[in-house]
Amino acid sequence: MFQLPELGFAYNALEPNIDGRTMEIHHTKHHQGYTNKLNAALESHPDQQSKSIEDLLRNLNQVPESARMSVRNNGGGFYNHSLFWEVLTPGGQGQENIAPQLLEAIQDRFGDLESLHQQFSEAAGKRFGSGWAWLSLDSAGKLVVTSTPNQDNPLMEGMTPILGLDVWEHAYYLNYQNRRPDYVSAFWDLINWNKVSDNYLNAQK
Ligand code: MN
Repeated sequence: MFQLPELGFAYNALEPNIDGRTMEIHHTKHHQGYTNKLNAALESHPDQQSKSIEDLLRNLNQVPESARMSVRNNGGGFYNHSLFWEVLTPGGQGQENIAPQLLEAIQDRFGDLESLHQQFSEAAGKRFGSGWAWLSLDSAGKLVVTSTPNQDNPLMEGMTPILGLDVWEHAYYLNYQNRRPDYVSAFWDLINWNKVSDNYLNAQK
């Protein structure tokens, strides 16, 4: 059974960038809902229950067809939000918190951190409707910025996400209404670069 992970901070700890009410609803209603529905989808498939969430999502074609769409949507929702909470930290962190190996990879690929920021914001802004923006390692180990619709994620495309941003309206509407770019900008100031660096280093093992 998959379990809703705890947040590493209080619901209101990300204010003013992300308001406490949004965080509470997002965690206790949305993320809990995906978790419950993922478990329900796997209930009648005991052979799938020992798999990690990464394994399930990387190999959706090995999930029985009757559960596949639910695992894609709800398993995606479970995984995506678990990653999202971990790459946020109250007050955010700066370039000095980026591991040297990751900073070098960012500079190689994008030029500098600001250029990555611009490309990421563009991916988040252009995603039509509900979805996510990502920084991932592709199958060759190169950094890449993408976006996905709904609760899809880079695991489903053979990549490993290290940073993700939820751009569903439920993530920002109470505070930002239709101003997604302002939310994306506020998110960038909350990034836990220590954690993103860990994700990068772990993805290379
Ligand atoms: Mn969400």
